[in-house]
Order: sequence, then C-alpha cells, then structure tokens
Amino acid sequence: MSHHIKFQFEDLPYSFDALEPHIDARTMEIHYTKHHRAYYDKFVAAIEGTELQEFDCMKDIFKNMSKYPAAVRNNGGGYYNHNLFWNMMSPDGGGKPSGELASRIEADFGSFENMTEKFSNTAATRFGSGWAWLIVNSENKLEVCSTPNQDNPLMDLSDCKGYPILGLDVWEHAYYLKYQNRRPDYIKAFWNVVNWDEVYKRFEKTAKK
Ligand code: MN
Repeated sequence: MSHHIKFQFEDLPYSFDALEPHIDARTMEIHYTKHHRAYYDKFVAAIEGTELQEFDCMKDIFKNMSKYPAAVRNNGGGYYNHNLFWNMMSPDGGGKPSGELASRIEADFGSFENMTEKFSNTAATRFGSGWAWLIVNSENKLEVCSTPNQDNPLMDLSDCKGYPILGLDVWEHAYYLKYQNRRPDYIKAFWNVVNWDEVYKRFEKTAKK
C-alpha cells in the first residue's frame, strides 16, 4: 500500500521463543505481530501524503516532534522504540558490558550494580505506560531516565533528552501474560537477555571520548 514510504517493518532478529523463560513466546508473538505492527501501520498512515513520507530517518522527525500530530508522536515513537527494543535483547544476552562502556558506567554511576538498580527503579516507578532508558546526554554523560507512553529521548518535547543506548518497554502488554502485575519481576528478568554488544555499538556511535 505504501511502496514510497522508506520505513520498513523489520524482521524480529530471533524466534518468538528465543528469550524464554525470561520473555515468553506468547508475549513476544503478540507484542511483535499485533502491538508493534499496529504502531507501524498507524505511523505509515499518519505520514502518508504529508512531507514526512519523504523522510528516511526517524531522528529527523523526532527532533521536531512538537510540530507534528499526536498520531505521528505515538505511533512513530512506538515503531522506533520497539525496533530498538527487539535489538537490545538477545538469547545470548545478559552478563555485563565490557571495555569503555563498562568504565563509563562506573565513572557515571559508581558501579554497574548502581546503574542497573537505578534503571530498574526508574522502570518500576514509571507510572502507567512508558519506557526506561539509559542515554548519553548532551553533556556526554550516561544517564538513566524514563518517558511516558511512546515518547523517547530523541523527541524535542521529552523531559529526558539524549541518545538512547538501552531501553525497556514497561507497558503492561510487554509482560502481563507471564508476570501479571509483577512489573519488578519482568524488569529483573530483562537483565538476563540484555544484548550488551548492541548497547556497546550504540554507545560507540554517540559517546565522545
Ligand atoms: Mn510494547
């Protein structure tokens, strides 16, 4: 329907059951094929016939987000955030980051454990639906923050601004089937599947030495 739109609906980088038992297959399937698909389809519908259909980079849309309709903000955010999220997890994930990222986490948070604790608390206390983020901020520091709904730190109207290197979806649709109302258990499980290689790549792209 929209061959001229440059944004693609990308494949999930692993099978639905690849992150079991931490993230269950049924949740992954519904999350990817229903929720993520709906954000993508609605985003495409919202930009079709507007100047935004010529864009090929979400960051260029997000930096002027306040100029565009709510449908672009909510669905464009949902499309982009979920693309990040799938890639920030891996069946070979877990453990700890290494190298320069590990040193920068220690420098900015005191320790890896302090960072994960702060991130987990931020994710657990995000009221309602939203995301928790580890970002590189404008002062080139690592920072933990959260955004409501499908906002993200690349949006000009976000309170939390910077380049996201790790993100966690804390909408109930991301965990309710397996964890029900126990969001902290889902957050704890998430650390077992974090793809630190991908986080490192995003860190290297942004963080100045
Ligand atoms: Mn989601």
